Amino acid sequence: MRIARAIAELPASEGGVGLVPTMGAFHAGHLALFAAAREENNLVVASLFVNPAQFGPSEDLARYPRDEKRDAQLAEQAGVDVLFAPSTEEMYPEGYATWVDVGNLGRRLEGEFRPDHFRGVATVCLKLFNIVRPDRAYFGQKDAQQAAVVKQLARDLNLGLEIRVVPTVRDEDGLALSSRNAYLSPEERQSALALPRALATKNPEQARDLLRNLEVDYLEEANFNGQRVLAAAVRVGKTRLIDNVILEGDKT
Ligand code: AMP
Repeated sequence: MRIARAIAELPASEGGVGLVPTMGAFHAGHLALFAAAREENNLVVASLFVNPAQFGPSEDLARYPRDEKRDAQLAEQAGVDVLFAPSTEEMYPEGYATWVDVGNLGRRLEGEFRPDHFRGVATVCLKLFNIVRPDRAYFGQKDAQQAAVVKQLARDLNLGLEIRVVPTVRDEDGLALSSRNAYLSPEERQSALALPRALATKNPEQARDLLRNLEVDYLEEANFNGQRVLAAAVRVGKTRLIDNVILEGDKT
């Protein structure tokens, strides 16, 4: 596996390129995306970039878990060909000024609690798509609204690539894998289990009752491109967790 830090170091390739955008701190959820990309592409590129533009001023950008050495090993074992790990200056050089706004979809649910989050996501994804020129890009169902935002971006701007959505990978106790789970103390992790248990009811009233001891940002049924999900964001101590279950519609 090659590690590329500059855009100019990326290989020019024709056909069969799969891109998996990530912020690192790899877990089995990321590995599932790499495996899906490995299955249907000649060249698999994973990007590792903790994108400052998608973090709010009071969010966890500074303490977001970073371990590039471990990530590089895991990516290599998963069959990734190129790990693109640019600096912030490479992605947002001085004078950077252009932003992508995906409209109302980016302002609901997560967007209500994280203003500008999806503007940051859509912008960095468009940049990565232009840099890597993939035929297919892979996202997790865990971040269902993000996947919907990227699909909207690809459709509206005629990007001509396929967006694949990979099912949520969970720990044995049901908690969806997330780099942010590392912030949880053992006691907080126990409390956090209310989130997957609540969503598993697939019933908003029952779910709300099961979440009564957590601080709930939102718990809502949403329709993303014809797929109905029950989605929630909760705070456990200082940690904010999101998850969703598919109610009906396309399973990915
Ligand atoms: P992140 O590094 O957290 O930005 O995530 C990179 C990609 O992995 C995103 O498309 C996420 O939706 C996806 N992802 C994160 N956690 C999971 C999970 N538990 N199962 C499946 N995909 C995931």
